[in-house]
Amino acid sequence: MAQKPEKMQISLYLSAFIDIGGVMPKRLDILIVGAGLIGLSTADALLSRGCGVTVIEARSGPARGTSYANSGMIHPSQSRPWNVASPMRSGALRSVHELALTSRTLLQDSLISLGLFKDNPVPGCYKIYPDMMSAREAQKRYDEEGVVSRAVLDAEATLGHPALYFETDLWGNARDYALALEADLKNRGATFIYDAPDLRIRRGHQGVTAQMKGHVFQSDHIVIAAGPQSPELLAALDIDIPMTPLRGFAVNFEKPDMQLPFAPLMDAQSHSAMTVFEDQLRLSGTINQASARPLLQRWCELAPQVMRELKPATEIWSGLRPMSKAGRPYIGGTDVPGLWVNTGHGHMGWTLCAGSGNLITKMIMDDETDERFKLG
Ligand SMILES: Cc1cc2nc3c(=O)[nH]c(=O)nc-3n(C[C@H](O)[C@H](O)[C@H](O)COP(=O)(O)OP(=O)(O)OC[C@H]3O[C@@H](n4cnc5c(N)ncnc54)[C@H](O)[C@@H]3O)c2cc1C
Repeated sequence: MAQKPEKMQISLYLSAFIDIGGVMPKRLDILIVGAGLIGLSTADALLSRGCGVTVIEARSGPARGTSYANSGMIHPSQSRPWNVASPMRSGALRSVHELALTSRTLLQDSLISLGLFKDNPVPGCYKIYPDMMSAREAQKRYDEEGVVSRAVLDAEATLGHPALYFETDLWGNARDYALALEADLKNRGATFIYDAPDLRIRRGHQGVTAQMKGHVFQSDHIVIAAGPQSPELLAALDIDIPMTPLRGFAVNFEKPDMQLPFAPLMDAQSHSAMTVFEDQLRLSGTINQASARPLLQRWCELAPQVMRELKPATEIWSGLRPMSKAGRPYIGGTDVPGLWVNTGHGHMGWTLCAGSGNLITKMIMDDETDERFKLG
């Protein structure tokens, strides 16, 4: 978030401190591993609190892992975990939903401050079902979860399919956001180190150390936001972070010149979506398929008129959702002093990024605890 006023307040506070001859409080230096949506949002929140922030990333730029091409939905409505049998009983659903609602507001503010928020004529997201009876049954479950939806059938918005409409969800291009946020963070003083796949994190005498090619990073805290690669990074420290990454695909097309759905359209059956961004149409989702073919076949069934108009795809991509086995992200400290995790956001990472960055910052800076997201 480009929170310039808050930053100014911090420097005013510091100069007042110097004027009265006080001792300057020590600035905390934080190393964040991973420049995906979660690492960038963590950097954003920590920088806003006056920390020194260094982000270290294995790839050559920001948002080149799972955050590269998601479906763009900021959808608290979809907080139900995909891999937990009784999410209500485990508390995972409620925890994720609460964090998602906070995160949506923070993310909207951040999108506005970066000049990226589109006041879409039709907000929200749609989810289509085979028939109206299935839509109404699903609606009952959403009601029980405290999620408001409306059953609709519309020739344009739902391509004529029975659907549920989640009016308070938002959507936007996560990669555009990540690129704009990274530029903003650099302007505000964050350091980014790219092409750094060889980072080694080890337990030291006084906590944790990070090293790369003989260089030891000096930091007060380290936050692991390495998405689906987080478990292997933490395994070197004997920390088990239970995750089952789930592969998804995204296929980008030039936007065809025709009437298209104005808000993302999810398909309940295939866990995929059609999202029409400003400059492209994207089909994305599915779970652990070997290729993008099932995704394309499904949308040929659902939207034959649209699919007929599409030129060959401009890009086919696949990525792993960092799906935690607990059905909710892991946000908090570890048994190694100074080592934190912010990962495991599964199918909700775009929705939860701002809220998760904010939460871990409160834990590090204010000693706040939140048992809902603890590791283990
Ligand atoms: C097809 C698809 C559609 C999706 N749609 C949505 C959606 O509509 N809404 C939503 O809320 N979420 C959606 N998601 C989920 C969301 O995209 C992810 O949860 C989110 O991108 C995860 O972000 P991350 O920062 O944790 O991981 P990543 O983006 O993978 O970032 C982790 C970074 O850490 C780096 N890294 C790893 N190991 C190391 C190391 N040892 N040293 C240095 N760097 C390292 C990686 O290179 C990577 O850049 C979707 C996901 C997929 C796959």
